[in-house]
Amino acid sequence: MSTLRFQALHDATHREPVKFEESDRKSALFGKNVFNQASMKQFLTDDAYKGVQEAMQVGKKIDRNLADYIAMGMKEWALSKGVTHYTHWFQPLTGTTAEKHDAFFETSYDGLESFEKFGGAQLVQQEPDASSFPNGGIRNTFEARGYTAWDPTSPAFIFGTTLCIPTVFISYTGEALDYKTPLLRALSAIDEAATEVCKYFDKNVKKVTATLGWEQEYFLIDKALANSRPDILVTGRTLLGHTSAKGQQLEDHYFGSIPTRALNYMRELEQECMLLGIPVKTRHNEVAPNQFELAPIFEETNLAVDHNSLLMDVMQKIAERHHFKVLFHEKPFKGVNGSGKHNNWSLASDTGINLLSPGKTPMSNLQFLSFFINTIKAVNDNEALLRATIATASNDHRLGANEAPPAIISVFIGEQLTNVLNNLEGVSDGKLSPEEKTDLKLNVVGKIPDVLLDNTDRNRTSPFAFTGNKWEFRAVGSTANCANAMTALNAIVAKQLKDFKIEVDALIEGKKLKKDEAIFNVLREYIKSTKSILFEGDGYSDEWEVEAVRRGLSNSKTTPTALKAKIDPRVIALYSEMNIMNPVEVEARYEIEIEEYTKKIQIEARVLGDIARNHIIPTAIKYQNTLIENVRGLKEIFGDEFEKTAGEQIILIKQISKHIEGINRNVAEMIATRKAANLLEDPQEMAETYCDKVIPFFDEIRRHCDKLELLVDDEIWPMTKYRELLFTR
Ligand code: ADP
Ligand code: MG
Repeated sequence: MSTLRFQALHDATHREPVKFEESDRKSALFGKNVFNQASMKQFLTDDAYKGVQEAMQVGKKIDRNLADYIAMGMKEWALSKGVTHYTHWFQPLTGTTAEKHDAFFETSYDGLESFEKFGGAQLVQQEPDASSFPNGGIRNTFEARGYTAWDPTSPAFIFGTTLCIPTVFISYTGEALDYKTPLLRALSAIDEAATEVCKYFDKNVKKVTATLGWEQEYFLIDKALANSRPDILVTGRTLLGHTSAKGQQLEDHYFGSIPTRALNYMRELEQECMLLGIPVKTRHNEVAPNQFELAPIFEETNLAVDHNSLLMDVMQKIAERHHFKVLFHEKPFKGVNGSGKHNNWSLASDTGINLLSPGKTPMSNLQFLSFFINTIKAVNDNEALLRATIATASNDHRLGANEAPPAIISVFIGEQLTNVLNNLEGVSDGKLSPEEKTDLKLNVVGKIPDVLLDNTDRNRTSPFAFTGNKWEFRAVGSTANCANAMTALNAIVAKQLKDFKIEVDALIEGKKLKKDEAIFNVLREYIKSTKSILFEGDGYSDEWEVEAVRRGLSNSKTTPTALKAKIDPRVIALYSEMNIMNPVEVEARYEIEIEEYTKKIQIEARVLGDIARNHIIPTAIKYQNTLIENVRGLKEIFGDEFEKTAGEQIILIKQISKHIEGINRNVAEMIATRKAANLLEDPQEMAETYCDKVIPFFDEIRRHCDKLELLVDDEIWPMTKYRELLFTR
């Protein structure tokens, strides 16, 4: 008997839901463990409070003196909540969060006294021994040290007994080594560019904030079951396993009632989120069995990104207590829906306007249209870059897998807005006649609010869709750090808005057009030149692939091809121009990602080879021996007649041998291919070789293993089966 599997099944089926009771109303808990406005007011001096506010709102620098005062207040607040340690909390390019805890505790120089200490220096900057974080060669070529620096725009928070201070992570020479640094630069670029454009419509606008509301999908699997599978444990997904008789065909899980164990987990998770100031709002079952989704109220993008990273951490920690493991992988199970992380994105002005929400007057609608069309133009001109920002080994399984957006980036806007664009396309060149202006105001721009209300034809197959008052980037993977996609999206829209402003100003000054005429003229040209990115049809269809090629859209199905777009000279120039990343930083990131891809496939190949040879083959042989014993026994009893009774067993014995041979041969070839790939010097070439030459063995090996799963006695099968992973409650 396969002890690990059956022990795990026993544990999983005998679990009682872990009890949980909320300690208070959500609103009473919200932000309790965050150094937010309220706690700042209570614990900071007036000057220190003002300093932080100015740093948050207008990016004003905090001097050392002030930092000392802020640190003092922060420490008092933290100590009042039983905190013992502090850490700079950052997001290196490993995809997880990093923290190194230091105690507040210190002793005097003679060691006779002890006290809790935390000064401005510790708040503002730390030098983690960071030589083992990915740096894409940056720290090899320059200086081997990196440092973290406080990001006052994202408030400090307490997790457990540690005060966590969100920071950026940069090399000694100033290059970004994390996700946050370029994101902050992109957010400031879009603020600047969008504010300028807003001024056409409202001179009072001083700041534009990019907003993000992510939706996190995940699987919850009993901890014992997850741990019984070396593939899940090491790679986060199942590398083999025959599909279960019941999968998601019945679609009976979606929005169904949440099982008690999972619900209790979610309740505790939500309480922790409340304390941490993560405004989670919705929870529901997803399409696949044991798949769920969590979504917050949207927030300023930097904060939302931090909150998503923090959430993923917290989810895993709370899962421990409930004997679950959270699977964030984009495709943990073959034949079952994968997980994504939709990124809902919009722009908000400091005058309280959602710039992607149609307004009440023609002028505010022209503002809406400007931001709406400029976003389309930005995506049109940079579709390959956007595709690259969501490229990972794990998301490759999901994109284009007929349940998730295809690997082709296109934009869905719905029928009504398509009509609006068609009407705008007919706007005359240059000056507009009074009649035309009136017509535009009354019949085109003026009609938008009404039409959007019934803009209900949401297209789930589109990777980038307009959903009434925001854009939804749906192709982002569930494991992703949102910063990757959000940096690119905000950067390209910033660049586009900057160009738009230049073009409109040129028409106003050069051709002496009125402001609205100039805007109409520029938008008309954008509409004409961005037709190929707009697609309203079925993104899963084969026809779309053909059509997309005809339109010249890229269709990079794998990460190694997609990532090339990140170092396209146009992209490097755009990031430089917008001060988001310098060429060294761009190259470094590309290099880290391409190497990470190779490493992921390498690990999967090793784990698969190991399971197939050391778990599956021995089991198959064991069962085959039982069959051989059986045949031998039948021969003893029936003599030469034995074949009549042992015929089926003999066929089985032969089939098992065939699959054992198949596994052994493919594993051997896979190893040889991998060894050859490892000799390649160029990381791009190595990644491509892994992708094109190594991955195909995965399917072959899996096919033989999964066939054996159907042949071999269930009692001795070592790997927890799909139905057990997916339907144990
Ligand atoms: P769906 O049908 O995709 O689940 P919802 O209407 O439930 O869409 O909204 C999904 C997400 O959109 C939520 O997480 C919400 O926070 C986010 N969202 C709503 N408005 C905005 C906005 N202006 N900016 C960014 N995100 C937003
Ligand atoms: Mg959504």
